[in-house]
Amino acid sequence: MIFAKQAMLDTGWAQNVRLNVEAGEITHIAADQSPQAGDARVDTLLPALANLHSHSFQRAMAGMTEYRMAGKDSFWTWRDLMYRFTAHLTPEHIEAIAAFVFLEMQEAGYASVGEFHYIHHQPGGAPYDDLGELSARIAAAAATTGIGLTHLPVLYTYGGAGQAPLQQGQARFGNSVDRFNDLVARARGAVDNLPADCRVGIAPHSLRATSPEDLAQVLGAHTGGPIHIHIAEQPKEVADISDWLGARPVEWLLKNADVTPDWCLIHATHMTEAETRDMAASGAVAGLCPVTEANLGDGPFNGPTYLEAGGAFGVGSDSNVLISLTEELRTLEYSQRLRDLARNVMVVGEGSVGAAVYNGAARGGAQALGRKSGRIAVGQLADLVAVDSSDPALIALQPHQILDGLVFAAKDKVVTDVWSAGRHAVVDGRHVQRDQIVNGYRAAMQSLMSSL
Ligand SMILES: [Zn+2]
Repeated sequence: MIFAKQAMLDTGWAQNVRLNVEAGEITHIAADQSPQAGDARVDTLLPALANLHSHSFQRAMAGMTEYRMAGKDSFWTWRDLMYRFTAHLTPEHIEAIAAFVFLEMQEAGYASVGEFHYIHHQPGGAPYDDLGELSARIAAAAATTGIGLTHLPVLYTYGGAGQAPLQQGQARFGNSVDRFNDLVARARGAVDNLPADCRVGIAPHSLRATSPEDLAQVLGAHTGGPIHIHIAEQPKEVADISDWLGARPVEWLLKNADVTPDWCLIHATHMTEAETRDMAASGAVAGLCPVTEANLGDGPFNGPTYLEAGGAFGVGSDSNVLISLTEELRTLEYSQRLRDLARNVMVVGEGSVGAAVYNGAARGGAQALGRKSGRIAVGQLADLVAVDSSDPALIALQPHQILDGLVFAAKDKVVTDVWSAGRHAVVDGRHVQRDQIVNGYRAAMQSLMSSL
C-alpha cells in the first residue's frame, strides 16, 4: 500500500490517497483516506516517466568529447571517438555501466527504459559464444536495478547510405538479417527471466544502416513489440538518404513501411511541415532527446506543428551525457522557445506547459515502450514517482502548478521515491542497491581506463 498526501490521478488531483499495488499493477485507489501502519508514505505522487531511448554504455564517455579540436567538431567527429571507446568495452563493463545508468535514471524519476542496444559482438566483430551475451548483460543490469526494461536489439548491417560496407569501428554492431533474427530470439530468452512488465522490441538502427529489402524482411519476421528507429537526426543524414532513396528519411519510411502506434521515431529533427503532419497522423511516437540533441548540435524538433497535428511524443536520454528528468523536459521546451523566439510553446491552446510536457511524455513514453503506464489508474502498471512538495523549489506552489515547478524550477533531488511496476527501487532519494551498483561502476571504470 502507498499513502500520498496528494496524487495526480488520471481523474485529476486528489488528497490523502491510498493505493493498492499487486503483481506490479495498481488494483485499487481511494482518496480522502488516513495512512495506516505499514503504508509507504509519500508527499506528492505522479505517474513516472519512461526513458524511451538510451545507449547506456555512452554514459562512461560523458565529458570526454567537450574539448574543441582543430577544425570543426561535429556529430561525426563525436561518433569517431565513441567508436574508439567501444572497442575496449568488455561484457563486465557493459553490465556495470548499464546498472549504474539505470540507477541514475530511477533516482531521477524514471521507472523504465528503452535500451537501444547495438554492441553485440567482440572487438573485431566475432560473435560471442552466446550470440545474445551482451543482451543478457543488459537484462542482468535491469534485474539488479529493478527498472522496467524494454530491450531493443539493434539491426546494423551497413556503414552508411547505399549499403556501404561497415567501417572498422562498427564491427561490433554488425548483423545480417538472419543473424539479427537469431539474436532477437536470444534476447527474448534473456528478458524472459525478468519480471513480466519487461519486454523485447526491435530497432533497425537507421535507414542508413539497413536497406529497403532488409528492412522489409526484418519487419516481416517481427512477432510483436515496439519498433524503434533513429531518423532525420542530422542534415547530412537527410541529404544522404534523399540522394540514395529519392525521398527524405521520414517521407520514405512513411511511404514504404506500415508505421503504426507501435513505432517510435527517434529524433525526427529535420522534417518538412508535411512530414511532421504525416508522422503525427501515423500514431507513432516521436522519441525526443533534447539534452543529447543540444549536446550533439542536432537542432530543435518542430514541436508546435507536431502537437497541433495531435502527435505523440516522449523523451529519452540517448547518449546519457546527463541523466536528468527535469533537465530533459525543460530543455525540450527551451529548445522550442529559442527556435521560435516565443514562450510557452509545447502546449496546444491554453494551459500549463509543465503539465503538457510531463503528461505528454508520460503517455507517449509508455506507448513507445509497450508499457501500460503513464497514468495513475486501476489496471495500470505501478510506474510511480513521488516528489517532495515541501522542497524550497516547490513549496509556494498549488497542486495545479506542481508540474510547472518540477519542469522549470526544480532539480531531480525533489524525487523521493520511485516504483518500477511496483518494485520500490528508490526510497528517500536513494536507490536501494546504490552502494553495490556504484562500487561495481567504479571498478569497471578503473579497469576500462587502464585498458584505453
Ligand atoms: Zn540514439
